[in-house]
Amino acid sequence: MENSRDLLAKVSDVSTETEYFSPIPNGYKKGKCRYVIVTGTVMSGLGKGIFSSCLAKLMQDKGLKVAPIKLEGYLNIDSGTLNPFRHGEVFVLDDGMECDMDLGTYERMLDQDLTGDNFSTSGQIYSSVLNKERHGDYLGRDVQMIPHVTGEVKLKLRSLAMETDADVVFVEIGGTVGDLENAFYIEAMRELAYEEGPSSCCFVALTYILEPKTLGEQKSKAAQLGIKQLMQTGIQPDIIACRAENPVGEQARQKISVFSNVPFGRVFSMHDSASIYTIPAMLRDCGLDFEVIRLLKIEDRINLRKERGEWGKWCDFTDKIGKETCDITIGMTGKYTSVRDSYASILNALEHSGIALGCRVNIKWIETTDVNDSNAAQHLKDVDGIIVPGGFGTRGTEGKIACIKYARENDLPYLGLCLGFQMAVIEFARSLCGIKDANSSEIDPNCGSAVIDILPEQKKIEGLGGNMRLGGRDIEIKKDTIAWKLHGKSKTIRKRFRHRYEVDPQYIDTLEKAGLVFSGKAPKYPIMQILEIPSHPFFMGTQSHPCLTSRPLKLEPMFVGLVASAMRKKFPDDNLPDCIKAAQKVCS
Ligand code: GLN
Repeated sequence: MENSRDLLAKVSDVSTETEYFSPIPNGYKKGKCRYVIVTGTVMSGLGKGIFSSCLAKLMQDKGLKVAPIKLEGYLNIDSGTLNPFRHGEVFVLDDGMECDMDLGTYERMLDQDLTGDNFSTSGQIYSSVLNKERHGDYLGRDVQMIPHVTGEVKLKLRSLAMETDADVVFVEIGGTVGDLENAFYIEAMRELAYEEGPSSCCFVALTYILEPKTLGEQKSKAAQLGIKQLMQTGIQPDIIACRAENPVGEQARQKISVFSNVPFGRVFSMHDSASIYTIPAMLRDCGLDFEVIRLLKIEDRINLRKERGEWGKWCDFTDKIGKETCDITIGMTGKYTSVRDSYASILNALEHSGIALGCRVNIKWIETTDVNDSNAAQHLKDVDGIIVPGGFGTRGTEGKIACIKYARENDLPYLGLCLGFQMAVIEFARSLCGIKDANSSEIDPNCGSAVIDILPEQKKIEGLGGNMRLGGRDIEIKKDTIAWKLHGKSKTIRKRFRHRYEVDPQYIDTLEKAGLVFSGKAPKYPIMQILEIPSHPFFMGTQSHPCLTSRPLKLEPMFVGLVASAMRKKFPDDNLPDCIKAAQKVCS
C-alpha cells in the first residue's frame, strides 16, 4: 500500500492561472472521510489527546474506521531530540517514528498500531514545502503561508484519510488557540471545513473551567475568552468540552453556550476522573458520540451490534477499576522522577497489569543519585519490586546498579527496561563474573571491560546505519524460559526499541556460564534482547521498551510478571495465585 508520503509526492495541481491552491491526493473522494478537529483553549495540558482518543474509541467501537493525527507546533522534525523532562516521554512507533506521548494514548485506547503518518510537526510541514520549492514545484509563484503551507497541512490530512480508508480522521492540534506556532494549522482547518463542505468537519473546543478555592464556585470567563479567540479565526465550534476538577454545573455550561453559539446540549463536562480508562464511559453516558455522529451525518455507517460486543469487552476491563483487593508498591528509579509524564507508558503498563490482577500499584520514586551499596536496603525497604527504566547519560547509574544488586541478592522482583537491562548486565558481570571494571562505554568510554558497547558492525548487518536502533523488532524466545512462559510459549514476539548501546557478544558466554540466561535475542544476530535469572523469583531485563505496547485489552506479559511476583512477595501466605500461572492466564 502506498503511504501518504508517496502520495504527497504525486500530487501536481499547482496552477499559475488562479489564486487557488489546495493540493488533493490523486483518487481522493470528497465526502468519504469526515474530520473531527480538536483544539484547546485557556491552557495546554488539558488532555486533548485523551479526549480525542476516547471519542475515537467510541467511534471505532461502532464499526467506523478511525485514524488519529497529532499536529505539533514545534519545528523539530520529530520528538527524538526532545527532553522528556520538558515534553513528556518520547513515544516510539513500530515504524521507528519518535513522537509525542499522545500517540501512546491513541494506541492504547484504539488498540491500533500507528505510523509516522499519524504524527506531524511544523518542522515536517515547512521542510516539505521548502523541498518542493527547491524542486521547482510551485511554478514561479511566491510561496506563502496561505495557501502553500496550509495546503501542505490539508494534503497531509487527506493523504492520511486515503491511505487508511478512514471514515473519520481525528485531528488534534497541539498547544492552545492563540499560539503563533499553531496558527497556520487552525487556518488550514478553517479552509478544510470550507472545501470539504457542510457536515464534513466537527470542531471540538476543549476548554477549562476555573474553580478558585477562595470563591468556591466555577467561573467560565477564561473559557469564554478562549472560545472567542477560536471564533476570531473563523471557526465556529460545534462541541465544547469543559475540563474541570469537578463536574461542570449547568450555570457555567449555560453561560458558555450563550457566548459561543453552541447549543447547551453540546456543552459537556469533562471533569477529572481517577483513571483515563473510565472517560470513554463518561463521554458515552452524556451522548457525545451520537452528537458527533449526527453532526457528521454518518448515522448510516455505524454498526450497533458491533458496538455492543466491543463495549462489553471494554467494560470487562474498566469494571475492575477501583475494585482492587490489595496493593503493592513498585520502586521506580529514574532521572526524571519529578515528572510523571516522562514515564507515562510505564505507569500505564503497570496500571493495566494491576487492574487485570486486581491489585492497586503504588509507585515510590527513587532518585538514584543518592543510592549506593550501603544505603540501598534503606531506600528499598518498603517496595515489593523495582523497575529501572530507560535513560541516557551517566547521572545516577551507579545508584541504579546498587538497586539492581540489592534486588538480585534479596529476591526482590526486578524489571529492567533498556538502560535497566544494560545496568543489570553490568551488575551481574561485576558481582558474579569477576569483571570488576565492567561498564557501558556510554557511561565510561575508557572503562576496561565495556560489556555494554556501541557495535556499529551489528547495526550494519541489521541495515540500520550507525545510529539509534529504533522501532519494532522481532525477538526470538528461548524455549522453557520465564520469558517463553510469560509470552504464551511463543517462539517469536515483537517489541519496540530505542537504543544505541547493547551487550558486547564476546561476554555472552561468560555471563551465561555464571547463571544469566539470555532468553530473547534478535533473529539471526547476536543482539541480546531479554535476560533473566532462573533461580530468582522474578529478575528480568529487556533491551526493548515493552511498556510502549501494553494496552488495556492486550496486556504486556513482562509487566504482568513483575506485578504478579511483587504480589506474591508481599502476600506470601495469602494463597494468592502463583505469579507465573496468574501472569500466563492473564496473558494467554
Ligand atoms: N542509553 C542507552 C542506549 O542508548 C539506553 C537507551 C534507553 O534506555 N532508551 O543504548
